[in-house]
Amino acid sequence: MPIQILSESVVSRIAAGEVIERPASAVKEMVENAIDAGATEIKVECLEGGRRMIRITDNGYGIHADEVALAFAHHATSKLTSAEDLEHINTLGFRGEALASIASVSIVTCVSRHKDETTGTMMRIDNSRVITHERIGRNPGTTMTIEHLFARMPARLKFLKSNQTERGHIDGVITRYAMAYPHIRFTLLQDGKVIVQSTGNGSLRDVLIEVLGGQDVEKMIALNVEPATVGAEDEASRSAITVRGFVGLPTLDHNSRSRITLFVNGRPVQDIKLASAVVQAYHTLLMVGRYPVAVIMVQVPSEDVDVNAHPAKAEVRFRDANAVFSAIQRAVRTTLLAHLAPPEAPVSIKGIENWGLTISDEVSHDAPVTSSTGNEAAHTPIIGHQPRLAGSETWERVGIARQAQIAPDAHPQPSISNPSSPIPYPPSPIPHPQAPILPKPQLPALRILGQLALAYIIAEGPEGLYLIDQHAAHERILFERMMTQHDLGTVVTQPLLDPVVVTIPTSSAYVLEENINVMYELGFEIDPFGGATFLVRGVPSMMIQDDIVAAVREIVAEMEAGEAEPLRKEIEARVLRRVCKRMAVKAGRVLPLSEMQALVRDLEACQSPRTCPHGRPTMIQIGVGQLEKLFGRLG
Ligand code: ADP
Ligand code: MG
Repeated sequence: MPIQILSESVVSRIAAGEVIERPASAVKEMVENAIDAGATEIKVECLEGGRRMIRITDNGYGIHADEVALAFAHHATSKLTSAEDLEHINTLGFRGEALASIASVSIVTCVSRHKDETTGTMMRIDNSRVITHERIGRNPGTTMTIEHLFARMPARLKFLKSNQTERGHIDGVITRYAMAYPHIRFTLLQDGKVIVQSTGNGSLRDVLIEVLGGQDVEKMIALNVEPATVGAEDEASRSAITVRGFVGLPTLDHNSRSRITLFVNGRPVQDIKLASAVVQAYHTLLMVGRYPVAVIMVQVPSEDVDVNAHPAKAEVRFRDANAVFSAIQRAVRTTLLAHLAPPEAPVSIKGIENWGLTISDEVSHDAPVTSSTGNEAAHTPIIGHQPRLAGSETWERVGIARQAQIAPDAHPQPSISNPSSPIPYPPSPIPHPQAPILPKPQLPALRILGQLALAYIIAEGPEGLYLIDQHAAHERILFERMMTQHDLGTVVTQPLLDPVVVTIPTSSAYVLEENINVMYELGFEIDPFGGATFLVRGVPSMMIQDDIVAAVREIVAEMEAGEAEPLRKEIEARVLRRVCKRMAVKAGRVLPLSEMQALVRDLEACQSPRTCPHGRPTMIQIGVGQLEKLFGRLG
């Protein structure tokens, strides 16, 4: 093919691809325009995850009648005039590309009236072609309606995910802008249902209660906005940086960084480095593999930040990234330490006791406990999870709960078809008649020697020494058992006398809503109760002693983890893994010999005894040969 200049319509579609990736990107651009227009009320309505329709109504200053057509031209903006303006951008938009891009891939209807004019304008554009342009009455402000986004671009349509997923992205956009602009009253309706409704009263805390739910916000504290540090070398640049927002106490941890929300000059940004600044501020306060929840607003002089680094404006570059990094880290760290520090006697006997409890409650095989040094170690216990331990199950009780789930007439023995069927504790003294025809066990018979560090069972086998992680092993046993029950349809739900109310962040609510049936089959009876509130009416019977609010919230977080649209089977496995992790006997508990034996017997009966459901090892084996080497007896 000869080289040729592309036609304008092709060029504009290519450009649109960079800015408008999915319905949520169109929502983002339109909301930014409304904010730039000084709106105090922004209403967003979407149908079918924004594929069918997106409508954004604002009460900003509107567009002049004679500029409406221009607004849809490429590189047309009222927000900058010269290249120098790019050095200090104080608006969210500046590229003049959004409206043109959206209009080239959808049908857009713009109805707007400028505040200084008496009538409004209506313009309808079908994939870049103006089809209607007329005068119309309305209040000052703008309404943009986008219909059939990407309808003429089958390739792009194919990349869109399910309506629920696209809805979720839109929820995320509105949630973030509602946080960044508490003075603006945001309303989001998806398929006629109110998803977000902020008051616009200026209080970030109120917005957070709306979008994250009261249960999260109770565990969050406002950042102390400190005056500029005196004596710092780069004081000049630091003093110009302010950091505000809310951070979660270490008890409000999450399995990924996804609940760290960052804004730079009112712009939501994804910045791994800044997120790390937040994570690092929690150093030693959170377990390995756990991440904080935080909403951080950074303000820097506009000339110190380049917002023109990404077509969708999701990334920014700083003149002095290190100064921003340390400002965030310092603000978060000082706020946390001031809040967590005990008023006197940082190290007490009580602290030491709790240290043990903290380990036993959460730390398992996935977070090796290293003894922290320095002052911070003294804080670790105080932030702990200690109250949860008191009410949690004992090893015996789990056994009883399991027994209750077996059909009344049955003490089923393991069989080939169901090798992991439940065995009551203590194990039956009668030897299993089927034992000789069982599939070859994955583990040799082990002789228990004792317990180490209240976390590991020491055992001897034909191949030497075995150290078994009691928590990981129990997780594996529970997981295979629950999977079997689920596959056989014998899961037992325990109804709750009083339903438990659980609130979860708005942007996650759809995940739970979408999976209510999956949860039902796993033994959870959950009803949506409007917005991000759910009523839990029943739980799997083995969880009856658990903290149900915490459990459901953890499960939702688990469901969200990983790839965007997991298979149902994968979601089930994730939920069960989380349930098992919660219910498995924790490290830090003394196990009598009989319980260790029962646990190891059950582990031997598992199909995959050597890893926990998360894929980490349940045991470490040291061969006799290896021991001899270590003792210098060989070679
Ligand atoms: P940018 O926001 O980068 O300037 P856009 O393509 O998003 O580019 O918008 C083009 C222009 O249209 C804006 O500069 C602004 O003048 C006008 N505009 C768009 N939306 C609105 C709105 N909701 N209210 C007022 N003016 C608007
Ligand atoms: Mg714009």
